[in-house]
Amino acid sequence: MTRLALLGGQPLLTPAERPVWPHITEKDIEAVTALLRRGEISYNGSEGEVRALEDGYRQRLGVVHALAVNSGTSALHSAFFGLDLRPGDEVIAPAYTFLATAMPVFACNGVPVLADVDPDTGILDPDGLAAHLTPRTRAVVVTHLMGFPADMERITDFACEHGLAVVEDCSQAHGAACSGRPVGRHGDVAAFSLQAKKQVTAGEGGILVTDDRRIYERAVLLGHCLDRGEEDVTSEEYGGYGRTGFGLNYRIHPVGSALARGALSRLDTVLEGREKNCDRLGAPLRDIPGITPPVRQAHVDRVAHYVSYQPLYAAEELGGLPIDVFTAAARAEGVPLTRPTSPPLHREAAFRSASWHPGTYHPGDSTYRRYRGDEFPGVDAYLSRVLRLPVYSEERGDLMDAWAEGIRKVVDNAGELHDRYAAGALTVQDPARTAQH
Ligand SMILES: *Cc1c(COP(=O)(O)O)cnc(C)c1O
Repeated sequence: MTRLALLGGQPLLTPAERPVWPHITEKDIEAVTALLRRGEISYNGSEGEVRALEDGYRQRLGVVHALAVNSGTSALHSAFFGLDLRPGDEVIAPAYTFLATAMPVFACNGVPVLADVDPDTGILDPDGLAAHLTPRTRAVVVTHLMGFPADMERITDFACEHGLAVVEDCSQAHGAACSGRPVGRHGDVAAFSLQAKKQVTAGEGGILVTDDRRIYERAVLLGHCLDRGEEDVTSEEYGGYGRTGFGLNYRIHPVGSALARGALSRLDTVLEGREKNCDRLGAPLRDIPGITPPVRQAHVDRVAHYVSYQPLYAAEELGGLPIDVFTAAARAEGVPLTRPTSPPLHREAAFRSASWHPGTYHPGDSTYRRYRGDEFPGVDAYLSRVLRLPVYSEERGDLMDAWAEGIRKVVDNAGELHDRYAAGALTVQDPARTAQH
């Protein structure tokens, strides 16, 4: 057996360059240059590149309304505002997600109520939702984490039963599908981020989609005025407010829209490339003890791989070898294996501190939940096992094979590694500090 690099042997591979992302093509550059030459750098209405991007999403998803905005966070804020939350209304949100899934609820004077996730997928657990119901519960927001769709059938059934709205945060899942429909078509309203890391990117941007006219009009009014407000907000309830809007400017930049439109036209190619690489890596991992490919549940029709491929670690299959020793040994072999770095929401100050007053609504602090940080065993079980590897969009079959070999080498030497670690002969850095996303 060859000696592990972490124990003084030769690394199996030289580390590969990081994936190239975003993809910006000559066609994108031409489209942007054309805008600049025409001085087309702001629109008042739904027109030009913004209109084209919105049409692209409308057609792809088969949805009635699409509203491009200047970030995914703005899209989520507009979605919650669209639901007409009243001060103190509660929105159940996953405790493990990107911040923007839940934080804009505060900006609507609402209360995000965190709920546990499935220990195998990190995705909001439908079984845990009922425990969080109160007379103030108005909605559930769900994240399709890392491009893996949540169990939307069960979540929408639960919401229906209790008269709740459903918001899908599709920011990491452009192009994913489950239960026969694309993500973004299961709830009342959905938000996609178009930030630089996402599968479709404007650099900075976001898009909201809904079939619901009232949600759409409210979303338009939150972040748009003048032409867009007047053209698109025509109902009896809101028709008079289009000119002024409701106070914010969430307009997307035409340049970002042009980039996102190009990226949307390449989405399927990107997703196919990513899936090929992930499948190529996943196949050998099935036969290697201590590590399993990400769990793909029965409702999932299509995974839209995001920046990371996330297998699960099983220390018990390797004599209890600590996960940080395992990842350090893999990195020493040239395999860029890390762990997620972001803490779950319930361990952030905004959800722990008794003195923090978000938004303008101060209900004597009694309504805002304060979390201890240990109340979600599903989050902890997931984070104690989940691993990360970068995802490439272009064909990298040989690299995927090499990574599998590097991981196999660590697993084959797990006994010696564990002995050396237990004897105090190894110091392992906290890889969470070195990982980049
Ligand atoms: C990226 C992301 C967002 C929003 O991102 P912006 O940077 O505001 O565009 C929201 N939710 C999730 C899950 C994300 O990954």
